[in-house]
Amino acid sequence: MLQVKSVEMTAWRVARPGPISGGPLERVRETVPEPVPGELLVRVLACGVCRTDLHVTEGDLPVHRPGVVPGHEVVGEVVAVDATRRFAVGDRVGIAWLRYTCGACRFCLRGAENLCPNSRYTGWDADGGYAEFTTVPADYAHPLPSGYADAELAPLLCAGIIGYRALERAALPDGGRLGIYGFGGSAHLAAQVALARGAQVHVMTRDPAAQSLALELGVASAQGMADPPPVPLDSAILFAPVGNLVLPALEALDGGGVLSIAGIHLSDIPVLNYQRHLFREREIRSVTANTRADAREFLAFAGEHRLEVTAHPYGLDAAPRALSDLAHGKFAGAAVIIP
Ligand SMILES: [Zn+2]
Ligand SMILES: [Zn+2]
Repeated sequence: MLQVKSVEMTAWRVARPGPISGGPLERVRETVPEPVPGELLVRVLACGVCRTDLHVTEGDLPVHRPGVVPGHEVVGEVVAVDATRRFAVGDRVGIAWLRYTCGACRFCLRGAENLCPNSRYTGWDADGGYAEFTTVPADYAHPLPSGYADAELAPLLCAGIIGYRALERAALPDGGRLGIYGFGGSAHLAAQVALARGAQVHVMTRDPAAQSLALELGVASAQGMADPPPVPLDSAILFAPVGNLVLPALEALDGGGVLSIAGIHLSDIPVLNYQRHLFREREIRSVTANTRADAREFLAFAGEHRLEVTAHPYGLDAAPRALSDLAHGKFAGAAVIIP
């Protein structure tokens, strides 16, 4: 086993939550974290940069752990195991957003642990992956599929899993027509899952580069954000956090269609007209976090179907720049920190 006790590492902590331009992150040198019973110690190989990290860093989300290390798309190598020994030293594991659920509430008991009111999250309630080492409860660590580089796997661990759950919530029938509104990291992975399952996919985004990427991936059409798709849809997913788009998305649905809203945040939804937007059994559903079962299913799917991931690498020292570039939309695809 690697001797890491009292070894020093570099990490980034949210010292002063606020606008990224004001330098909310502080680079620290500190001892490698000590796992508590039931946890693995993990050397970080890659950590994806998610928009939620920006919300934690800028203080849009309430502070849960002062000075937290952000990062919840961690690909790492196990360097110390817990007593259960389900993982071995040297295993490559994934650490995602969901870190703890109580297992005893009425949501946990019915398999809806994503709604557990006692849940805790990596990079918000506990230190995450903007560091050289981190810890994870072994019960919430994920085995990872082979055939991908570390940097390619990282975005799968939040963007991929959430996109997968949003697709499940959209209840797309076999061979059905799916509309996707907004085409960032999560959307481009969900689109690939739907395409691999034989769906016909239509993408609505204002970004010409995203439209081109969608067409390269094999979608049937790409058009502007509020433009009607060429055919009525069975299902739609709204990835853009724009409440105004709920209206055109509902109007694009055929009878019985389902609109799934993927984001944590959405601006206000304008007034709906029952006949235009809901009648004929159209439905709106939200998506809240994910269960471990979602993560397992999605990572298994990624093992069987090669997903294309566009990763932009940043060194650990460049973590604030990665967040700033995300805030300013400077890249298509996903930023990934490689310590
Ligand atoms: Zn619970
Ligand atoms: Zn995330």
